[in-house]
Amino acid sequence: MTQLQFLGTSDAKGVPRILCGCSVCQEKKAVNIRTRPSLAIRLKQETIFIDLSPDFRTQCLRFLNKKIASAVLLTHAHNDHISGLGDYADLLFGQKKQGAIISPSDIIDTVQNRYPYLKNRPLLQFAGESEWEIGPYKVTFHRVNHGFNGYSYGIKFTGHDYTWAYVSDAINLSQQEIKPFIGLDLLIIGTSFWDEKAPMHTRSVYSVKEILEIDKVLQAKTIIFTHLSHDIDVEKRKKEIPAHTMFAYDGMEYNLPV
Ligand SMILES: [Zn+2]
Ligand SMILES: [Zn+2]
Repeated sequence: MTQLQFLGTSDAKGVPRILCGCSVCQEKKAVNIRTRPSLAIRLKQETIFIDLSPDFRTQCLRFLNKKIASAVLLTHAHNDHISGLGDYADLLFGQKKQGAIISPSDIIDTVQNRYPYLKNRPLLQFAGESEWEIGPYKVTFHRVNHGFNGYSYGIKFTGHDYTWAYVSDAINLSQQEIKPFIGLDLLIIGTSFWDEKAPMHTRSVYSVKEILEIDKVLQAKTIIFTHLSHDIDVEKRKKEIPAHTMFAYDGMEYNLPV
C-alpha cells in the first residue's frame, strides 16, 4: 500500500498571506491555514517527496518523525517548490543518509545553478531523468504549460492496477499535454482560485471551476485539489464540488490501494 501525505497545500504565497486583509486570511480557521506545496509518498520500503517547499523544515517537524525521503521529485524550479532544498541537504548530512533530487535535466540544471554550493555534497545526488521506477510504479515526467510562469512537469505514477498523477502548476493545457492525464484513478491537481477572471495571458494556474470543466475530458475517478490560495475557503467551497473531488489540507493522509 502507498500512503500519501500532503505536507503543504497552499499556493506560492501561503495562507494566510502576509498583510492580507481578506476574510480567509483574517479569520485564520484551521481548515484554511496552509503551507507551501510538498507531498510525502510512503511506500513499503521508503519515503519519497514531491517538491521541497520553503516550509519544508516546519513540515518535517510537524509530520515526518524519522522518515527522511531517499529521493525528491521536482515539478519545476519555482521558489514555492524548491527552496527547502538547503534544509533537505542539511538533514541528509545530519542524519548521514543518502538522497537524490530527480527531475528532467532542464530543471536539475536550473536548480544546480541556483544552489551551486549544494553540487558537491557527497550525500546529495542530482539526477536529470524523465523516467524512473519506484516500488510498484513507473514514474514519468510530462511537460505542462504553466502560462505566464513558463512550464512545469506533471508527474505520473503508472502501476499495474492503479495510476495516479501530481500536476501542481498547470493551465490551459493543449490536447497533447492533457493526454497522459486522461482516465487516471487519482489526479492531484494544483489550483489557486475558485474562479479567476484575469486575462488568460496573465495567469499561471487553473481555477477550480476550469478543472471541473476539463474533467469532462480528464475523466479522473478521483480529483484532489491542492496549491490552494487564500481565495479558497475550504469550509464553504467543499459543499459546492462534486462527490469524486476533494480539497487537500496540510497533514491530510490518503491511502492508495497499491
Ligand atoms: Zn506553485
Ligand atoms: Zn510555479
